[in-house]
Amino acid sequence: MMISILCPCCNEEKSLPLFYQSVVRIMDKTGEHFEIIFVNDGSKDNTIEILKSLSESDTRIKAIDFSRNFGKEAAITAALDYSSGDAVIILDADLQQPPELIPEMLEKWREGYDVVAARRDRDSDSFIKKFTALAFYKIHNAFSQIEIPSNVGDFRLMSRRVVNALNSMKESQRFMKGLFAWAGFKTCFIDYKVAKRAAGESKFNLFRLWSLAIEGITSFSAFPLTMWGIIGAIIAMGAFIYGLFIFFHTIIYGLDVPGYATLVCLILLFGGLQLLGIGIIGEYLGRTYIESKNRPICIIREIYSHEKINSER
Ligand code: UDP
Ligand code: MG
Repeated sequence: MMISILCPCCNEEKSLPLFYQSVVRIMDKTGEHFEIIFVNDGSKDNTIEILKSLSESDTRIKAIDFSRNFGKEAAITAALDYSSGDAVIILDADLQQPPELIPEMLEKWREGYDVVAARRDRDSDSFIKKFTALAFYKIHNAFSQIEIPSNVGDFRLMSRRVVNALNSMKESQRFMKGLFAWAGFKTCFIDYKVAKRAAGESKFNLFRLWSLAIEGITSFSAFPLTMWGIIGAIIAMGAFIYGLFIFFHTIIYGLDVPGYATLVCLILLFGGLQLLGIGIIGEYLGRTYIESKNRPICIIREIYSHEKINSER
């Protein structure tokens, strides 16, 4: 049996040595064959130098170097593509996700689970982050038929079957949490406590999380589009009834001119609603446009490894 550990890295020069030591120590204890596939996602620091020297000194290490930053989702996709393990485990480089959980994951996998997903706590998160995360899961799951379990991220073990299923999904905008859920398979969850970052800082600010949330919802549900049909129908019905009322009111009581405030409010309300609807349609159109170009998900500059690997595949 062979286990692949996949690790996306973006400016992680400070955490990498510690990460490498911890993972190797734990994997050696399990007695399993393993490889660690690092992806250098356009780091601006020395990350690639460290990865290069690790791959020279340890035959179990592969390092995929991207031509620029393509994002964590793309990094995970490339690592999955080049992994050869019977099971793969995705781990962040910053040691926030404790590698000590690996033996337990392997045990569950041997029990027959195809996916062992780790569920994080949110004790250390700010109120805003807790609230927005909760809102995201609620809204996503209300809109989409594919349910994403709360607080379960990329940290997980997956069997080869699941990896093959993921590799067969060709879309270029990859919301991994959604793709994992879409793939299905027999899943179990284990809880863990998020550790402090070993070094460096988080790359996911509120704006990036917001884009990710929008991507998640639009990738897995067309309901926000359908919704405008429903809203339109309700408003049209209301307008028809109100029109009848005005018509008879005018016939019976004659014309009364006041109503300026009502008019302005209605114009503003419907103007706003229309722009919102167009915005949502635009969001989907933009995604369709990008998807239709069919560009590769990432560009690999080079792969550092003991065996010769063709990066053109
Ligand atoms: N990461 C990446 N590309 C990016 C941003 C992040 O490969 O564009 C990696 C990063 O190096 C880390 C993991 O994704 O290993 C999680 O990132 P981070 O710790 O910044 O996110 P957080 O834990 O704060 O959600
Ligand atoms: Mg982190």
